Amino acid sequence: MNQPIAIELAATKKTKPQADQLGFGKYYTDHMFIMDYEASKGWHSPRIVPYQPITLDPASKVFHYGQTVFEGLKAYRTDNGSILLFRPEENFKRLNRSNERLSIPHLDEEIALEALKQLITVDQDWIPDEDKTSLYVRPFIIANESSLGVAPSQNYMFMIILSPVGSYYAEGIHPVKIFVESEYVRAVKGGVGNAKTAGNYAAGLKAQEEAAAKGCTQVLWLDGVERKYVEEVGSMNVFFSINGTIVTPALNGSILDGITRKSIIELLKSWNIPVEERKLSIGELVEAYHNGTLEEAFGTGTAAVISPIGELHYLDEQLLLRGGETGPLSRKLYETLTGIQTGVIADPFGWTV
Ligand code: PMP
Repeated sequence: MNQPIAIELAATKKTKPQADQLGFGKYYTDHMFIMDYEASKGWHSPRIVPYQPITLDPASKVFHYGQTVFEGLKAYRTDNGSILLFRPEENFKRLNRSNERLSIPHLDEEIALEALKQLITVDQDWIPDEDKTSLYVRPFIIANESSLGVAPSQNYMFMIILSPVGSYYAEGIHPVKIFVESEYVRAVKGGVGNAKTAGNYAAGLKAQEEAAAKGCTQVLWLDGVERKYVEEVGSMNVFFSINGTIVTPALNGSILDGITRKSIIELLKSWNIPVEERKLSIGELVEAYHNGTLEEAFGTGTAAVISPIGELHYLDEQLLLRGGETGPLSRKLYETLTGIQTGVIADPFGWTV
């Protein structure tokens, strides 16, 4: 597919929300990108159109069998007025890895990035510039063949929508309380845990709801076989500082390969801080807590960037980390990464586009 992107501009523009009302994923810009796929034609008809509802047949496969994938990244407005994306090519690579797992046809990553750049250019007035705000980008693909047979869809839609956002958590960079989930699991090896697909998130809602009822913001997921090894925290990857070494669970098939995770590892290595990607059991963490070597814990992801963990609730124990305060490493990583993302700090890695 090498067709030009058709652009239909909105006749009227929506009123933009105030920065302090943004929250996460509540408002959408004036336009969206769509491209269709049919088995006989491949991906075709790329277009930017006014943001609007879409019509789908009730028998569309996405509703019944969840054949769908998505991505999440952010665009930032720099102080000199230019627009920066953070490692967007990584998101489109991961989208294709998710496509592969969900039997969805590959997308041309360059065309997807070009579509994103054009859409953001059209809606650039929507990029907020207040501290801790950004334009969240949600590319996604849905299977829209109307057929109830359990088989890969013949038709798909690829769309990109944009949402101006503030801080992901109401608490901002403040530490969150985490419930260590030892009943429900998020994903298993051989399943779809390392794909960004809807079912993983639907499967996590119940645990999240129960954790919230216990006063926790998110759950820490353990492995699906033994409920022993740490995997992720909510929809973030997770890091622990243990006796001067930063430990994060190794990618094992059931963990999402986070772009923030990858960037944090590269950043730590560039600072000569030892990083280990390995199996990490909850028992090891509890022991490190009791012998005083568990120094810091934090989640990483596009939405919150760095989310310090102030407290872990595991079985009958409550592990209070750093008295519930943000640790120095979490703060430094947050400031450095958001600095690079927003163009405040020079980008020595070539991450921003
Ligand atoms: N794990 C899960 C399950 C996620 O949904 C996300 C968010 N994409 C992450 C980790 C963090 O990934 P990233 O740093 O690429 O946002």
